[in-house]
Amino acid sequence: MPKIQTSCPRCKSPLIAEVEQLFDLFQDSNAKQRLLSGQANVIQCPSCGYNGMLATPIVYHDPDKELLLTFVPPEMGLPVNEQEKLIGPMINQVVNRLPAEKRKGYLLRPQMMLTFQTLIERILEGDGINKEMIEGQQKRLALLQRLLTIPQAEDRLQVMKQEEALIDQTFFAMLSRLLETTMAQNDERGTRVLGAIQQELLENTTVGQEINAQSREAQEAVRSLQEASQKGLTRESLLDLLVAAYDNEIRFSTLVSLARSGLDYQFFQILSERIESANAEQKTRLEKIRETLLEYTRKLDEQVKAHVEDMRRLLLEIMASEDIETSLQERLPEIDEYFVEVLQQELQNARNNADLDRISKLSRINSILEKASAPPPEIAFLEQLVGMDNYDERMKLMQDNAEKVGRHYSAERSSEPARRIGRQIKRNSPHRFTRDNDERHEKVGTSRSLLQTGSRL
Ligand SMILES: [Zn+2]
Repeated sequence: MPKIQTSCPRCKSPLIAEVEQLFDLFQDSNAKQRLLSGQANVIQCPSCGYNGMLATPIVYHDPDKELLLTFVPPEMGLPVNEQEKLIGPMINQVVNRLPAEKRKGYLLRPQMMLTFQTLIERILEGDGINKEMIEGQQKRLALLQRLLTIPQAEDRLQVMKQEEALIDQTFFAMLSRLLETTMAQNDERGTRVLGAIQQELLENTTVGQEINAQSREAQEAVRSLQEASQKGLTRESLLDLLVAAYDNEIRFSTLVSLARSGLDYQFFQILSERIESANAEQKTRLEKIRETLLEYTRKLDEQVKAHVEDMRRLLLEIMASEDIETSLQERLPEIDEYFVEVLQQELQNARNNADLDRISKLSRINSILEKASAPPPEIAFLEQLVGMDNYDERMKLMQDNAEKVGRHYSAERSSEPARRIGRQIKRNSPHRFTRDNDERHEKVGTSRSLLQTGSRL
C-alpha cells in the first residue's frame, strides 16, 4: 500500500500514513471489509496520540451490486475540477480491469457521496441494511455499553427492565459476537463480564427466557434421541419419539433436523401403515404429523442446499483473493462443516479434471484449515457424521459416540455463550431459521464491521 507524508490534524507533527483510495471488489473482495471496519486510512500520531481517519478521496466499486461510489472529503477543500483529476484516473482503472462484457452503464454514472457516513450507508444499503437498522443497532450497542459500566447487578437489572424493548434476538446476537471477539482475544475479564450480563439477560428478559426455554427443549430432544440411540434407534422408535414430541414445536423440529437422514422413504412407509391401522382420532393426529414432517424436511433440505451454495460462493471468493491465507483467516468465523464438505467436493472435481491450479489452491485452503482447527473430538465426530450419507452408519456412529454427542449438546452448556444456543436453535429449528425477520436480524447481527463502525457513523 502506498505511504504518504502528511501531518497530524491535531498537533501538525509530520507523519507517514498508508493510503488506500481505490476499493475495487472486482480486484480484491476484502476491500469492502477493510473500508467498513474502519481499518483503512487510519492515522495514528506518535506525538499527541491522535487516532483518526486520513482525509483522502475514495472510489468504491462493487461489480455484483453495480455500485460505483466516489467520495472526496469536504475538508480537503478541492474545487470540482481538482476532485475530478483525483477521481478520474481511479475510475479509469476500475473500468480497464473489467472484461468488456462487464462494462455496464453504471460505470458511466459514478455516484458522488458527500460524507463518509453516506458512503458507508450506501454500501450497507446494498446489503439490505438500511439506516433504521443501523440506528437500531447503535441504540443496542449504547445500551450494552451502558450495562457494562454499571457495577451492581440489581442496578443493571433495573436498566434491563427499562430498556427491554431493545433486548431482542438482535441484541443477543450482538452480545454473542462481542463475546466471541473477547474470547478470541483471550480477554478473560471482558469475557467474564459479558458472560455474566448475558446470563442475567437470559434469565430476566422475555426474549432471554424464550431463548432459554427453546434451548432446554432442544436439549430435551437431543437427550431423548440419545436415549433411544442407546437402545438402538430404529425408524419405528424414531417415529415414536416424533409422535411424543409433536405438541412441542422446538422439540419436534430439533428431532427432525437431527434425524433428517432417518426420515426416508421407508420411514414414511411405516408411518403410512400406522395411519392405516389407527383409530379415527389417532388417524387425524398421525396424518397431521405426516404433513408437518413432509413440510419440515422439505424446508430443511432447502436450507441445507442454500447454505451449501453460500459456502461454495465463499470458497470461490477465497480462492479468487490475492492472498488466500489472509482472506481465509478473515472469513474463518463463517466457515463450518458444510464448507469443509464443499471444499472436499471441489477438490475431488479438480482432481477428476486434472486442474492443477485449482488442486493446488484448494489443497492449500485445506491444509490451512486443518492447521487452524485441529478440531476438538466432538467436532471431528460431527464432521465424520456429515461425511456419511447412510442412515444406519450414522446411527451406529452416534451410538458408539454417545458420550461425544452428549458433550456437544449437554445441559451444562446452557451457561455458555448464547451463540451456541443460538446456533443450535438455528440449526435445529427449521422455521425459526426461515422466518424473514430472523434472517434480517441475523444480517445485522453478523455484520461485525457494523459494530466497529458504529461509533463513527
Ligand atoms: Zn498529533
